[in-house]
Amino acid sequence: MRIETLAVHAGHDVDPTTAAVTPPIHMSTTFAREPDGSYRAGYLYSRYSNPNRAALEQCLAQLEGGTLAAAFSSGSAATMTLLHALGPLAHVIVPDDAYFGTIKLARDVFGPWGLDLSIVDMTDLAAVEKAVQSNTRLIWVETPSNPLLRVIDIAGVVDIAHRADAFCAVDNTWGTPVLQRPLGRGADIVMHSTTKYLGGHSDILGGALIARDDSELFQRVLSIQMSGGAVPSPFECWLTMRGIRTMPLRVSAQSASAMALAQFLEAHPRVEAVHYPGLPSHPAHEIACRQMTRFGGMLAVQVGADRQESIAIASRLKLFTQATSLGGTESLIENRASVEGPTTRAPENLLRVSVGLEHIEDLKEDFDAALRR
Ligand SMILES: *Cc1c(COP(=O)(O)O)cnc(C)c1O
Repeated sequence: MRIETLAVHAGHDVDPTTAAVTPPIHMSTTFAREPDGSYRAGYLYSRYSNPNRAALEQCLAQLEGGTLAAAFSSGSAATMTLLHALGPLAHVIVPDDAYFGTIKLARDVFGPWGLDLSIVDMTDLAAVEKAVQSNTRLIWVETPSNPLLRVIDIAGVVDIAHRADAFCAVDNTWGTPVLQRPLGRGADIVMHSTTKYLGGHSDILGGALIARDDSELFQRVLSIQMSGGAVPSPFECWLTMRGIRTMPLRVSAQSASAMALAQFLEAHPRVEAVHYPGLPSHPAHEIACRQMTRFGGMLAVQVGADRQESIAIASRLKLFTQATSLGGTESLIENRASVEGPTTRAPENLLRVSVGLEHIEDLKEDFDAALRR
């Protein structure tokens, strides 16, 4: 089945007790035992499992073409659980342009616990190969990356990981299963911040890990999810499922608008640089064409002489709210260097844009007015 159909049907059944078409929300934390001690539907306590979470996990597994999924209370909780599951003293390779919270977790939270970390430029596969050690257990990929929209060759990194007997995990938050399916390219695990495009309305925090195959590692992930309980509530699972139903349509529209906005900005005399994988000027445009169906709703633009000037331009925009996060229906913009602090790799005048569902002509006119004043 195609992604639009899966988004509407995966994990959705007509409720067997009431025939409700829209699924009920099961708030109960506990489930009654049968006289013989068994549980009628297999649920016993909601930290372990819950009907709404089970439906979401089934849906996520199908969307990514995986066999198992685990839902978490945030994308970061999902990342943390995978790093935790590796055990101490594992070596992990992450890209230098990964979401800064991912690097912060690996370095500051798991570093003291014994995690051995290498941060490399993954657009250079030779550098990835060189970073491999005898204790390498995981190579983490994020593509397109945050905030520079770098594109990493998923199949190329998978090959290096598997030759080293390591797992390859891909943060597919920006790609979404609409634009790229990393498990189909050989990756072992996909991670999502469902806070972004899957939820899609800037009103829930959530995360997920999806496995291509069952493994000892993923069983440890499930065990930490169950024992630690960093899980989404039934209502959040329900809202995520509701968001997913329109996700393919939203992401298609956002990709089309982002492409048009990127082209408009690239041709604008007041713009220094545009970072968008859909532009032929992007250094990895060819890889993006190979592994993505479209190029996503995120772009970055360098404008103004410095941080102050770029923020002044962002402040003049009327339709782009200056706020962090992404993937919602409203357009957002932020000066990334000021969010990430002194360790940032973002150029000082870089504005990261999450394109919403407004009409593209309104977005272009808004940018044009803000740039010209
Ligand atoms: C937001 C984000 C995360 C972290 O997810 P949270 O839900 O905020 O914890 C991780 N990776 C990427 C690419 C993100 O955009």
